[in-house]
Amino acid sequence: MANNIIDPITAGLKAGWQHIDASTLESDQHFEADVVIVGTGAGGGTAAEILTEAGLSVIMVEGGALKSSSDFNMEERRAYPDLYQQAAGMKTSDKGIGIFQGKSVGGSTTVNWTTSIRTPDNALAFWAQEKSVKGLSSEILLPWFEKMEARLNISEWQYPPNRNNAALQEGCQKLGWEHTVIKRNVKGCWNTGYCGMGCPVNAKQSMLVTTIPSALEQGARLISNAKVTDLQHKGDKVVGLTATAQVASGTAASLTFKAKHYILSAGAIHTPAILMRAKTPDPHKQLGKTFLHPTLLSGSIFDKQIDGHSGAPQSIYSDEFVWKDGAAGELGYKLEVPPIHPVLIASKTIGYGRSHADLMTHFNNLQVMIALVRDGYSEQSRGGQVRLTDSGFALDYPLEKPFWDTARRAFATMAELQFAAGAKEVVPMNDGVAKQLNWLQAKETIANMDIGLLKTIVASAHVMGGCAMGEDKTQSMIDSEGNSHYFENLSVMDGSMFPTSLGANPQLSIYGIVARNATLLAQRLKPSIKL
Ligand SMILES: Cc1cc2nc3c(=O)[nH]c(=O)nc-3n(C[C@H](O)[C@H](O)[C@H](O)COP(=O)(O)OP(=O)(O)OC[C@H]3O[C@@H](n4cnc5c(N)ncnc54)[C@H](O)[C@@H]3O)c2cc1C
Repeated sequence: MANNIIDPITAGLKAGWQHIDASTLESDQHFEADVVIVGTGAGGGTAAEILTEAGLSVIMVEGGALKSSSDFNMEERRAYPDLYQQAAGMKTSDKGIGIFQGKSVGGSTTVNWTTSIRTPDNALAFWAQEKSVKGLSSEILLPWFEKMEARLNISEWQYPPNRNNAALQEGCQKLGWEHTVIKRNVKGCWNTGYCGMGCPVNAKQSMLVTTIPSALEQGARLISNAKVTDLQHKGDKVVGLTATAQVASGTAASLTFKAKHYILSAGAIHTPAILMRAKTPDPHKQLGKTFLHPTLLSGSIFDKQIDGHSGAPQSIYSDEFVWKDGAAGELGYKLEVPPIHPVLIASKTIGYGRSHADLMTHFNNLQVMIALVRDGYSEQSRGGQVRLTDSGFALDYPLEKPFWDTARRAFATMAELQFAAGAKEVVPMNDGVAKQLNWLQAKETIANMDIGLLKTIVASAHVMGGCAMGEDKTQSMIDSEGNSHYFENLSVMDGSMFPTSLGANPQLSIYGIVARNATLLAQRLKPSIKL
């Protein structure tokens, strides 16, 4: 790390921000505040800043460590264990889908790829009509998106796409398919392409360098390495939270919290898991219904260098196939590209031994396309279910025939796009499929290839749902403003609030909707304030 890069976290801590690393505590501790927020990702960070600004005393409790640009290491073998849940190796219970989620202060925003998209109108309309969500039209959300876009410096990427993204753009241009330049939350971006390892120059406007420092500056407290393990409740009130310090070995301190109001922002999967562990009411069996945008990958080899590790990881997307058949129709898929780093890609490509080595030999000429399948909009795409296990949690996520049919269509789309962009070979990431040398060959191979669980690579960096919003209790856990149906002093403010997947990358939807809900909550908790 260059010495001239200012690390806002170390500077703030020196200036007196209140931070406790729970792993260093030698005895049990008790904390009290107006509001306790569990988790510091897209939802927790946004809520913390707004509630602190409103004059409420706020404690942020984060299970992961406080890591900042001085700690970030651009080597994947160090970044993933430090910054990702389960060292980026999390999987669904049948091992069919690999899942990425962040685990340090800032949550997934510390490691995400900066694509920032407002909630699609199709999703909002579906939630209003089918999921009893009230008051979340695009008109109502507009000022909240504008507020968060201004706060997080979200604007259209001004520079040429890297060659990985350019292939998506060129393919779409050749085929006449819709494509859009992505908006990113960056300020002074160096275009290095290492967003997934934590931004080394603090250009990414993640929660780590924006809302969390702002909340700390205004007196909020941050307790890191403190994993919330239980939530006590009596009647319709939450009466306390318990966390355990995360220590490498030895005895961990126990931490207890009391607040007027509690907010769960531990992310989809962990927010429902906390509620399950605490045995909170779930009479209609809605808790833990989770969506992933299950994502397919297609590799291609160009005869020029692609260097997909370098430059903004995502700058072009195509929505040509997302909503083609209406929200409730055939499953749609969004086309994007991922960053191409060796460990990330080696673990998501197929083959072993010589064939895998051969693919990796062409690493610098490798271009990768992804198709993110929009799940949760029909009976045939019901998403997954979080459940508790003796050692923690599991996510069951059965992928059924409609998904595999869509996967086959998505592989064909991606191959067509890659050849149109000039690829010499295309490799659908599916077991037993060799390199395809032209679009006609690929079309036939894909139509007949053996597709399915553990044969097809499926991954996801978008975890949504699990504690859905809506007014109808038989379909939801919280109301449309994020308040629990069962506890008057509990809210959920994170990606778990979505009643389906979004059909778009989730971070800006979380920022915008949480900004609105946290502001409404601040007004409720402190009616005298003007926001
Ligand atoms: C590699 C990667 C790339 C991505 N790229 C993009 C992108 O380009 N654009 C986009 O829109 N989205 C992207 N996403 C997704 C986006 O970042 C997430 O959807 C969003 O951050 C989720 O916000 P959240 O508040 O729900 O949870 P998170 O941001 O995941 O935060 C949850 C926090 O809660 C903490 N926590 C969990 N359990 C506990 C507990 N028991 N006690 C205390 N703390 C706990 C976690 O450690 C974590 O810090 C990406 C995600 C990943 C992982």
